[in-house]
Amino acid sequence: MTGRILVVDDMEPNVRVLRAKLEAEYYEVLTAMSGEEAIRAAREQQPALILLDVMMPIMDGFETCRRLKNDPITQHIPVVMVTALDQQKDRVDGLQAGADDFLSKPINDVALFARVRSLLRLNSVMDELRSRGASGRGSGGVPKLQTLPENSGGRVLIVEENQRFGQRVARKLGAPYQCKIVSDQRVAAELAAQGFDLLLINLATTEFDGLRLCARVRANETSRHLPILGMLNSDDKEHAARALDIGVNDILERPVEAGELRARVHTLLQRRFFTEQLRTSLDQSLELAFTDQLTGLFNRRHMDQKLEELCKRAQFEDEASVVMIADIDHFKRVNDTWGHQAGDQILHAIATQLKNSFRAIDIVCRFGGEEFVVLMPGADLASAKAAADRFRLNIEQTPFAIGQGMKPVHITISGGLARIHGSDKGNETLARADAALYHAKKKGRNRMVTATKQSAMKKAMGQN
Ligand code: GH3
Ligand code: MG
Ligand code: MG
Repeated sequence: MTGRILVVDDMEPNVRVLRAKLEAEYYEVLTAMSGEEAIRAAREQQPALILLDVMMPIMDGFETCRRLKNDPITQHIPVVMVTALDQQKDRVDGLQAGADDFLSKPINDVALFARVRSLLRLNSVMDELRSRGASGRGSGGVPKLQTLPENSGGRVLIVEENQRFGQRVARKLGAPYQCKIVSDQRVAAELAAQGFDLLLINLATTEFDGLRLCARVRANETSRHLPILGMLNSDDKEHAARALDIGVNDILERPVEAGELRARVHTLLQRRFFTEQLRTSLDQSLELAFTDQLTGLFNRRHMDQKLEELCKRAQFEDEASVVMIADIDHFKRVNDTWGHQAGDQILHAIATQLKNSFRAIDIVCRFGGEEFVVLMPGADLASAKAAADRFRLNIEQTPFAIGQGMKPVHITISGGLARIHGSDKGNETLARADAALYHAKKKGRNRMVTATKQSAMKKAMGQN
């Protein structure tokens, strides 16, 4: 995976070394020599990953990281802190500042590229979600993400051959976390899919194949987003690289230090919380893209898509469907008499009636203004007409309440129905339904008219 990486260090030789290593692996490298410069570059150039030196004058790495993580424009970019010494305190401080990972100088190449690959993968997921979310929202832009409160805890599944070790790790993790310890990897794989927030696994054992378990968890539909934190011995760099490649999200060195354990667990849960928010906002923006705001019905764009699908089904699977177009009678008068707001209220109420009048598989859309379209997959014209008439009668017989002290408003509806023929295009069927609607209006409104093949032919010959 290629990507653009921002290297931040106040010492020119350090920048040069890292740049050379990364460029040799075909990464695109940006550089910055101070915290301020780094923030500017991150905002403007949106790198996929930041390698950030801790020791810098004026603004150190911790502060730079905190600012990057507090800014909605840069908050999603993974940050790897580069510490001079392998100091526990630096790691914990860095994780608390929001860093995603660590490397210590001198930088070990295997560790560097394993981290880079795994974080770039994470970034590409976040990026995809962000861009899809943003485009769905139109010009709404990028959402500001909530951070997870400190001590919010979670359910942690610990996979450890030795119960006593497992319990020791659970104690280090502390009170806000509910831990379950298992030693059998089959049981672990099953449990992983059952509502845990994080998997903490000992990868240093020969008792079971930890990497295989991780691969299984990733392959399972329900557990594939579960954060995995692997525990390894500090000298096992090769193993760490493979683990990260398989999909383990982070590695913790043994013996496990309590502060670092808690900080890494929190970081992973925070990351998952981010991606969940992005997924939810993506779902919402997708929904927005397909629904009409006023009525909650599907919009025209969705209708066009579904109509094309039904046409294909008519052509290739010989499954007929019916299209109905309905239009409120004299709706302009309603607006003129009771106001636009009352008009909106009535549109909304009619939409609800529509949804309740047809089958669950029917696709009910607002076509525009005071016109609606219902697509009825697999329906025949006679039963579609019967359903349309029931709906029409219901509207006629149920006046709409528009507010206290106001008399209920009587409304009627006219509609046209057409069947999708073998090789019809969507707009052809729609045009036939619309012609039938026109007849309904001409014949005095408050009625449903079906387009016959004959009327289609007449229309084609211009005798309408
Ligand atoms: P007809 O029986 O021939 O359909 O008469 P009509 O008055 O319903 O038809 P016309 O197409 O002349 O007018 C449609 C009216 O629908 C005009 C417009 O004010 C109203 N309308 C369209 N969209 C909305 C909306 O979103 N809210 C409200 N309140 N009114 C709308
Ligand atoms: Mg109308
Ligand atoms: Mg109209």
